[in-house]
Amino acid sequence: MDYRFSQEQEAFRVEVREFLRKELPEDREQDEEADSEEDWRFRRQFHKKLAARGWLVPHWPRQYGGADMGILEQVIMREEMAYHRAPLLDIFGVNMLGPVLMMYGTDEQKGQHLPGIASGEVTWCQGYSEPGSGSDLASLQTRAVRDGDDYVINGQKIWTSNAHRADWMFLLARTDQEAPKHKGISFFLTPMRAPGISHRPLINLADLHGFNEVFFEDLRVPAKNIVGDENRGWYVGAALLDFERSGIGSSAQSRRALNDLVGYWRETSGNGAAPSTGLRAGSARVRHLLADLMIETEVGRFLSYRVASMQARGEVPNAESSVAKVYLSELSQRVANAGVQIMGLYGPVRSESKKWARLRGQFALTYMVRLGQTIAGGTSEIQRNIVAQRGLGLPRA
Ligand SMILES: Cc1cc2nc3c(=O)[nH]c(=O)nc-3n(C[C@H](O)[C@H](O)[C@H](O)COP(=O)(O)OP(=O)(O)OC[C@H]3O[C@@H](n4cnc5c(N)ncnc54)[C@H](O)[C@@H]3O)c2cc1C
Repeated sequence: MDYRFSQEQEAFRVEVREFLRKELPEDREQDEEADSEEDWRFRRQFHKKLAARGWLVPHWPRQYGGADMGILEQVIMREEMAYHRAPLLDIFGVNMLGPVLMMYGTDEQKGQHLPGIASGEVTWCQGYSEPGSGSDLASLQTRAVRDGDDYVINGQKIWTSNAHRADWMFLLARTDQEAPKHKGISFFLTPMRAPGISHRPLINLADLHGFNEVFFEDLRVPAKNIVGDENRGWYVGAALLDFERSGIGSSAQSRRALNDLVGYWRETSGNGAAPSTGLRAGSARVRHLLADLMIETEVGRFLSYRVASMQARGEVPNAESSVAKVYLSELSQRVANAGVQIMGLYGPVRSESKKWARLRGQFALTYMVRLGQTIAGGTSEIQRNIVAQRGLGLPRA
């Protein structure tokens, strides 16, 4: 197996790096921390610059605002973006809805929505999870009832990332109450600023507002906003989850965090002891921990490349994506944990306490934020179930 990129792809990587170094301020806070109005504006402007080059969706056809490149160029783009901590404005539109519309959308839906995603003008959120339906998503209770040319939607979503920023939402709702649970669901598109839709913030344990509860009270959605067939939305929604699961962003994030940590350890411990830990530069404990993490980030990178190379060959990775998801999300937690430990007393200090924060307090923050990674997009237990059943052929539990 050969994961080398071609000369052209390596040249593209250099071009992307130069662009990112020029456009991203050195002292920018880490992506997760940035939920202020100011940062949101920065993200929008930055994404418009990417879009102007067709780089927001490099692998999409030009007719929809892409650059007609391949999956591997998209992988390079994501890898460099994550390594340089470039903000990701709209993973839901770019990575999920866009590819699904290309597969299942009507010409009208494609024409209406794809250019806005590719230009960074319109952002999306994902209305899947409900208070009683997360891992068992097909048990969802939000109802959509036909009324003339519209559906009237009532119910609630939860953990909806970016609902407070997004312009549109794609959501799953039950359109047939009698059918078996996977068979009575449809996939809808709705603007977020419509009568009958409201949201309430949920603050995570890092004290950040990333996700929300969303409520539908007699929300009217035109029937032409269903993607795919009525009652077949489960299959549209599931296809959506197959996109962009290589985890390459997570792998590059861990590699960057580890490089920062190694740099910090070299600098602060010098030839003597690191001031906040008392551990010496040659401490076997730290050396071995960093070496282990280096090995693991390399393993993670190649797991991602395996998924991406399958996608590039037109195959649909399944258990392979779950392997990468479990490994990389758990690795990101191990890296954050190591950061907090190795930095000793400075470890838990966040960037608000500028005087004492080291590496902009990133490890204190990521230690908390990364906890969600083994839950979002399917928990580690669910991914392990997939690996056991579809990867190893074991019976269902
Ligand atoms: C940071 C973050 C962002 C998110 N963003 C969004 C979003 O934008 N849109 C959206 O729709 N959702 C979003 N979610 C929700 C996410 O998809 C769900 O939290 C996830 O699917 C788990 O569902 P749940 O929280 O209901 O937990 P549950 O499904 O209730 O699971 C509880 C526990 O039981 C375990 N469990 C459940 N079933 C099984 C089983 N069959 N075998 C073994 N163990 C099992 C789970 O692994 C978990 O540990 C987000 C979550 C997080 C953390």
